[in-house]
Amino acid sequence: MKNNDYEIVMGLEVHAELSTKTKIFCSCPTEFGGEPNTHTCPICMAMPGTLPVLNEKVVEYAVKAGLATNCEIARDSKNDRKNYFYPDLPKSYQISQFDKPLCEHGYIEIETGEGEKKKIRLTRIHIEEDAGKLNHNEFGGGSLVDLNRAGVPLIEIVSEPDLRTTEEVDAYLKKLKSILEYIEVSDCKMQEGSFRADVNVSVRKKGEEKYGTRTEMKNMNSFRSIIRAIEYEADRQIDILEEGGTIEQETLRWDDVSGKTFSMRDKEDAQDYRYFPDPDLVAIRLSEEYIQAMKESLPELPESRKQRYIEEYGLSQKDSNLLTASKYLSNLFEEAEAICKNPKAVANWLLSDVSRILNEKELEPDAIPFTAEQLAKMIQLIEKGTISSAIGKKVITELFENPKDPEEIIKEKGWIQISDEGAIGEVVKKVLEANPQSIADYKAGKDKALGFLVGQAMKETKGKANPQMLNKMFLEELKK
Ligand code: ADP
Ligand code: MG
Ligand code: ZN
Repeated sequence: MKNNDYEIVMGLEVHAELSTKTKIFCSCPTEFGGEPNTHTCPICMAMPGTLPVLNEKVVEYAVKAGLATNCEIARDSKNDRKNYFYPDLPKSYQISQFDKPLCEHGYIEIETGEGEKKKIRLTRIHIEEDAGKLNHNEFGGGSLVDLNRAGVPLIEIVSEPDLRTTEEVDAYLKKLKSILEYIEVSDCKMQEGSFRADVNVSVRKKGEEKYGTRTEMKNMNSFRSIIRAIEYEADRQIDILEEGGTIEQETLRWDDVSGKTFSMRDKEDAQDYRYFPDPDLVAIRLSEEYIQAMKESLPELPESRKQRYIEEYGLSQKDSNLLTASKYLSNLFEEAEAICKNPKAVANWLLSDVSRILNEKELEPDAIPFTAEQLAKMIQLIEKGTISSAIGKKVITELFENPKDPEEIIKEKGWIQISDEGAIGEVVKKVLEANPQSIADYKAGKDKALGFLVGQAMKETKGKANPQMLNKMFLEELKK
């Protein structure tokens, strides 16, 4: 932010597509993609005279999401019509929930900076149907409607305006995403739009009580764009206020290419939607026993897993946090640990080399092509001294390209560590002869010279020499 006299205030409305097999009010598949308008039926195409029937799994998944985020679950709830016209909404209303959402008054705990915790309150979680999609300009500049997504179930998770920095927004979204992944109610694939956020932003002078007027940026589906958009929008609002202007409450569109926000429309109020209970659907009534059963069915959540990693495996807070953020990564960690019994090594490999490669390839952890067994075996080969950790790095790269038994990889590539005294002695001799200055340096008390010599020997053997043996033999020679 350019101006430090101000504070940003943010609240998020996150839409997550639920991973039920079928849509919310019909039995069409929810699967992403497919030829346009093939995952459709008279109900989700809004043919007159058709009737919706609520998919029970949708209620189940939403209740689980509510329980996992500390919400109160409503015993009585209902579906309402939210009326508006848009070409991707064939009924001209969306079935959503208005005044009686399934879940209310929850919170998610995030970590800010050095291990400090902050609760971000959730106003509500409600269920609703997704709209179709418009494909623009594909044929002679027109727009075509694809209703495959129409009627895919969503939960909308609305936060209170408790977020103050882009770091908090990032932590909140990551935490929410990981909770939904853990309880297996959404695949949260941002690139497929199954986890997307409306970001509400306002600014106020520091110390002021009253919130400023907010603007809303719709349908953001990448962490990077969300952060950029907030920074841009906060600065834009501050500039207006500093020049004595006022902020219009409006809906904005973020453009990633120009890095700017554009006005889409004035903000509608709830009254503009003419909400009313959907007369085609019965009310939702949940028993205490049902809610209790859902509670008991929840798996271990990221927060408690993290705590367990710290206590059980002695991992740092930071490493535990990173590992447990993704259920896939965390499962891989546990499976590999169970085989090689070396939690620190498994965590290190996953969080350094493996994460780096994932970042470079812009992949999510579930795209890791090798198995926990292969990773564990690679770590055991290092422990046994068959390969050095320098070769371990090469094995990891190879495991991404062509996953197979690491033992086979190192045999094929000739990467087995040289631990033969004679062979190592030769290399040591050769390196010492080529570097008389380092010998002098070492004798003059510069310990770093030893590291340099070992490095040279590693280079000479393409990383294959046993580093402990090198160290030992160099020391013996230098002390002569
Ligand atoms: P809608 O956008 O559907 O009209 P709400 O009025 O309930 O819904 O608010 C939506 C979101 O806007 C919530 O996440 C809330 O936290 C956030 N919000 C409300 N007021 C402000 C504000 N002054 N600044 C930033 N965010 C706000
Ligand atoms: Mg909104
Ligand atoms: Zn259908």
